[in-house]
Amino acid sequence: MDILKNYIDGCYQAPINNRYLNNIEPATGEVYGKIPDSDIDDLELAVIAAEKALPAWQSMPLEQRADILYAIAKGIECQLEALALAESIDNGKPVSLARIVDIPRAASNFKFFAHACSQFSSESHSMTNTATNYTLRQSIGIVGCISPWNLPLYLFSWKIAPALAAGNCVIAKPSEITPKTAAMLGQICQDAGLPKGVLNILHGTGSGVGSAICTHKKIKAISFTGGTKTGAAIATQIAPQFKKLSLELGGKNPALVFADCDFDDTVEQVFKASFANQGQICLCASRIYIEQSLYEKFKVALVAKAKALKPQDPLEKSAKMGAIVSKAHLDKILNYIELAKEEGGILLTGGQQVTLSERCRNGYFLAPTIFEGLTNQAKCNQEEIFGPVITLQSFSSDEEALSLANESEYGLAATIWTNNLSRTHLLTEQLNTGIVWVNCWLLRDLRTPFGGMKHSGLGREGGNEAMRFFTETKNVCIKY
Ligand code: NDP
Repeated sequence: MDILKNYIDGCYQAPINNRYLNNIEPATGEVYGKIPDSDIDDLELAVIAAEKALPAWQSMPLEQRADILYAIAKGIECQLEALALAESIDNGKPVSLARIVDIPRAASNFKFFAHACSQFSSESHSMTNTATNYTLRQSIGIVGCISPWNLPLYLFSWKIAPALAAGNCVIAKPSEITPKTAAMLGQICQDAGLPKGVLNILHGTGSGVGSAICTHKKIKAISFTGGTKTGAAIATQIAPQFKKLSLELGGKNPALVFADCDFDDTVEQVFKASFANQGQICLCASRIYIEQSLYEKFKVALVAKAKALKPQDPLEKSAKMGAIVSKAHLDKILNYIELAKEEGGILLTGGQQVTLSERCRNGYFLAPTIFEGLTNQAKCNQEEIFGPVITLQSFSSDEEALSLANESEYGLAATIWTNNLSRTHLLTEQLNTGIVWVNCWLLRDLRTPFGGMKHSGLGREGGNEAMRFFTETKNVCIKY
């Protein structure tokens, strides 16, 4: 049995209350480990450690800080295979995906922000013949980072790396559903020479230690990625404390497919955008709008690809689709599938749980699922399902496509598939999403602002946006 510990003050420690939660492998449905059910007492230890470590970390020369972050990236790369395997077991994602996306990207996050901290500059405003203003950007102090289960180490490091790069000490909590690679990161940081107390990793529930991190008075900023409801609860809870808050929340992302698209490539890319990581990426497309004249042809091609995609043991090298992350999440998705039928949806493929044999006979597998015939107002077109379930609708003009896409409480990401340049510019200006991909999906440059509008979040991550979030701004005005 794999028993995890918290990583506090540079060492692994059991939770003070000695309480543990089960860690379940989604592909088998079996408990394979225990994780600390930490509480405020563990958090207090982490805060004391972070307070102690803060002055030296804040004043460490940038080059030295960057070297440590590079060494963490190297440590992740050296453990690529072990981390990919751990991620796949914990989350149910194909090990091949963890190997080529999740883990390399976690290393890139540390590399990127190692570099960014040495390039980060601030502004100066001259008042001719009177004064000069310059802006100091200083680290905040102790910050909290809370991440979800869908891209465990990838999103955990996407927060921790800029927070550390900006000179903060961090108290971080991974999702209790996927804690393993976060636990492994502690050792990697230690081996890389990260001073003890600079990063503290606590395991436990969101309502327990997660909430305690958000409200702790000595934690001055919270960077959160997760569901919109949780984001709203955190925002409500910490509003009276006026701490900095970054929220990366849910999505219900539209894909707009026009008749003039490159057909084969678009089918391939929309298919990936729909079902990668079992549809459990906040950026996955779930509402597919297709121009009327292309609708039937596109539908037939997409459905054929979905029928050919079979869930497999995620540890199989050939697996392209793994398990849903938990029984509770599988049930939630299955409920939405029933709801889609009640709402008048026509099931084109999938729609049911899949039973595999042997080791995976009790795992949480679901066939890729496609519906058509739902109205845009149907709950299944308005609420985030966060699984391998998409809906198809047709449109007959650019205006209609835009209106359907924008008719959502969410505003994270949209994709447009067309070869018409004017249309591309007009739509990108008018789509209410934080990210628009044109003829591509998930093509990421870490310098770009990342995040959503409306109920998809508050603030942006990535590049200088993240460095700004994790620093406090002070204007200095010097009169001549
Ligand atoms: P949750 O909101 O359930 O949980 C996210 C994290 O917050 C977990 O670590 C969770 O802990 C913790 N948490 C839960 N309640 C609280 C609380 N009251 N106070 C503090 N922390 C809390 O999201 P999921 O893990 O289910 O992740 C899926 C969601 O994340 C989807 O909605 C998805 O769209 C969104 N997401 C958004 C992204 C973006 O960039 N916009 C990227 C990836 C995902 P625990 O799990 O232990 O309860």
